[in-house]
Amino acid sequence: MSALPVAGRRELAGWARGVIRGRGRELAGVIALQSAGSIAGLLPPWLLGRLVADVSRGHDTVAVTVAEILAALVAQSVLARFAMQAAASFGEKVLAGLREDFISDLLALPPGIAEDADTGDLITRTTRDCDLLSDTLRSALPSMLTSVGTVVFTLCALVLAGPLLLLPYLVAVPSLAAAVRWYLRRSHAAYLREAASYSTLTESLAETVEGARTVEALRLAGRRLDRAGADITASREAAYYTRRLRSVFWPVCDTSYALPVAAMIIGGGALYLHGMVSLAAVTAAILYASQLSGPLDQMMFWSDELQSAAAALARLLGIARFSESAATADDAFLPEGPSGGDVAVRDLRYAYQPGQDVLRGLDLDISRGERLAIVGPSGAGKSTLAKLLAGIYEPTVGQVTIGGQDIAGLPPARRRGAVALVTQEHHVFRGTLRDNLVIARPGAADDDVTAALDTVDAGDWARELGLDTVIGPGGHALDLARVQQIALARLVLADPDTLILDEATSLLNLRAARHLERSLAAVLKGRTVIAIAHRLHTAADADRIAVLDGGRVTELGTHEELLARDGGYASLWRAWSGPAQ
Ligand code: ATP
Repeated sequence: MSALPVAGRRELAGWARGVIRGRGRELAGVIALQSAGSIAGLLPPWLLGRLVADVSRGHDTVAVTVAEILAALVAQSVLARFAMQAAASFGEKVLAGLREDFISDLLALPPGIAEDADTGDLITRTTRDCDLLSDTLRSALPSMLTSVGTVVFTLCALVLAGPLLLLPYLVAVPSLAAAVRWYLRRSHAAYLREAASYSTLTESLAETVEGARTVEALRLAGRRLDRAGADITASREAAYYTRRLRSVFWPVCDTSYALPVAAMIIGGGALYLHGMVSLAAVTAAILYASQLSGPLDQMMFWSDELQSAAAALARLLGIARFSESAATADDAFLPEGPSGGDVAVRDLRYAYQPGQDVLRGLDLDISRGERLAIVGPSGAGKSTLAKLLAGIYEPTVGQVTIGGQDIAGLPPARRRGAVALVTQEHHVFRGTLRDNLVIARPGAADDDVTAALDTVDAGDWARELGLDTVIGPGGHALDLARVQQIALARLVLADPDTLILDEATSLLNLRAARHLERSLAAVLKGRTVIAIAHRLHTAADADRIAVLDGGRVTELGTHEELLARDGGYASLWRAWSGPAQ
């Protein structure tokens, strides 16, 4: 299992620039509406200030001012409503784009990376991280834009009322700046750690549930509970840490908001007494100071939310690092993929861990249309070789070519058309039986689908069930042997030039497996078939057999030749075809 990458700050900034470039007009519209609303919201304090000055001079302008204030308040609420609506729609569109990109990046993950990826991490990214981002984009973005607009315009209004009145505000700057700096330095990494701890926890719980039978059979419940306990402790500590950060940050912010109001009453009063500012300006400034704490508080609150959303975004955008290379490699300018041809394996080496070669310099030539069986003891590297032949893993050293082209370097779509790997792990998608088959050949007629099912000996039960029956999660349940037949029927429909079968019939009983393999062989005549054979009858039916041991080919030849040689294959065969068989 390997952890998927997380995007860095530069990639996050690049994404934000992309959004601004792509949706600049909408964003400008939102900002214009927010600004108009904020300006309307600044009028009442200014009008009240003017009223105080008028009344102190003996002018009665109360009725007119009240009407003006009411008009300003109505204008502010109408504009604020439209601004919120525009911001929410902007957020929804950004979110939809992000989700679409994430799903296509996820689907474009190279198979080797997807296979090795931590399942819990993938689940957490697709669920918790997406939800967190959608909540933030829906609510944080509109509120943040409104708050920033209000703060900026209030400060501008203060400058207009009297630049000296800005001074009392400055008392809040050092404590707020220090708190924000302190918090931002720690919070991004802390939120990333919190999200990663959820991934680990999800992975461990999913593993326990998936392996419930094994856990029960081997009495591993205690160990799994310990593991879950340790993961819960780690994620609780990560969550506690972010909470501790907030518990320092928020009280400092709350105190900082109150400071300008007190400073304004004292400082503004002193400035008025010295005749440096008017009474109207001081009144308006005091009202502005108290009015500012709301949007400032919102700004801080949402910037905290944005921190955890930024961590979620970094995890979603991280996936694109792998799929970008896959997507660019998939364009039409690349040379045509092989349309069948000889398979050549040259000095193939592969290591899961650096320095621990599983395959150690393997050479093999398979002619087009040949059926080669690969046998060998457990752990010899057969499945690893199958994945390298299918181009799922890239060799550490050496090369696998089909028709002269390096298979690992082919664009994924071309590679899938050229070579197919069928293992014992299959997935049935929720949908009809027909849908589950035509994914291998879109547009295939029912006759072709039924013929493919007949080829894999699944015609009888499939006809009984009907092609329209819904299978997969929540649908009609199929046993594993039938699922394996569906996977093989997909293969018949996909009709690739080269196919690799790794325990592809292992879930069928011996007699059924042999029958199925023979009917498949008839249909796949002319195709190159490389079969990892755990049951040696598959090997006996093949044109040639390669014995793999310790990461190398130790014997190569026909069934008869290898029996005559009386080496490793002969003893495997004797053991397998002994009295028990
Ligand atoms: P079997 O017949 O038991 O399936 P195999 O011949 O197919 O065995 P592989 O599955 O290719 O052998 O494994 C070869 C070696 O590589 C083994 O030692 C195995 O433990 C190791 N190995 C396989 N997959 C991984 C992995 N994802 N990470 C690390 N080591 C691995």
